[in-house]
Amino acid sequence: MIGKDLAKAENLLREGKLVAIPTETVYGLAGNGFNEEALLEIFKVKNRPFFDPLILHTDSLDKVKQIVSDIPDQALSLADTFWPGSLTLVLPKKNNVPDLVSSGLTTVAIRIPNHPISLKLLSKLEFPLAAPSANPFGYISPTTPFHVSDQLGDKIPYILDGGNCNIGIESTIIGFPNNKPTIFRKGGLSIEQIENVIGPVSINSNSNSNPDAPGMLKKHYSPRNRIEIGDIDLMMKKYHNKTIGILSFFKSYDQIPKDLQFVLSPKMDLNEAGKNLFTALRALDQLNPEVILTEYFPEEGLGLAINDRLKRAAAADH
Ligand code: AMP
Ligand code: MG
Repeated sequence: MIGKDLAKAENLLREGKLVAIPTETVYGLAGNGFNEEALLEIFKVKNRPFFDPLILHTDSLDKVKQIVSDIPDQALSLADTFWPGSLTLVLPKKNNVPDLVSSGLTTVAIRIPNHPISLKLLSKLEFPLAAPSANPFGYISPTTPFHVSDQLGDKIPYILDGGNCNIGIESTIIGFPNNKPTIFRKGGLSIEQIENVIGPVSINSNSNSNPDAPGMLKKHYSPRNRIEIGDIDLMMKKYHNKTIGILSFFKSYDQIPKDLQFVLSPKMDLNEAGKNLFTALRALDQLNPEVILTEYFPEEGLGLAINDRLKRAAAADH
């Protein structure tokens, strides 16, 4: 059930039940991060493997300090600058964080999301919310309450409606292995923005302390159809005898029916493109063309995260 009843969401979470919550990145499947039954239910509803650690969400640095044992200076500068926002910090955890959250790692991922409704909800709770994206494991993340209800509507008691997600791509994850700032997942906060605050960072988004963590699995975010990335004009010739769906940055193509074309930002704005990406991928999945053709976006700002998601979607073996 989709609704805007904050008290209902709060009560369900206190009872250990799950609620889908809006954030500026994607909708999260939230449960009490200190309650093992709620955590088990998250893994079950998503069909997510236990080796994939969860991100804890809260609303203040004070609450963050209750679950992490150390915040390096660079992490603190990032938190000061970008929280609430689409930045997830991986930090050494305290013992009160269940192993189910961290998949047995000694670190925990944590974020203060930037969405007024969820911030209000989090401010009422004395526990953090574990909230992975509210979709079945390996599928495209949801950016509207309807995306959530399409796939998980009959498995969870409530979906808190906060409208469409403003950023539309998962958070950028950064950790500090050996005191070196390292990007574990490219996301809604650009690397340029991060480097402006703490200087150069390394990028290690295919493996990390837990090399199997599926946010980083090669095949992820996948629709059912075959996706190819490259020069759309050339690929259209190659697939002239197939039904083609197109996901482009700003160009449209006269040869292809309009309803099979998704132009993410006619005005060439990468932020707008990021916001529209998952909705377009879902729509194409439903239209089910024989092949989806897309292109590499400029390797700057949100373009890096968009290309990352497209590559993972294309890596699926159909
Ligand atoms: P999500 O599915 O959006 O909740 O993202 C969770 C992702 O965060 C996981 O798939 C990991 O890639 C990453 N993550 C969570 N906890 C950790 C951790 N302790 N160390 C490294 N990466 C983590
Ligand atoms: Mg996810």
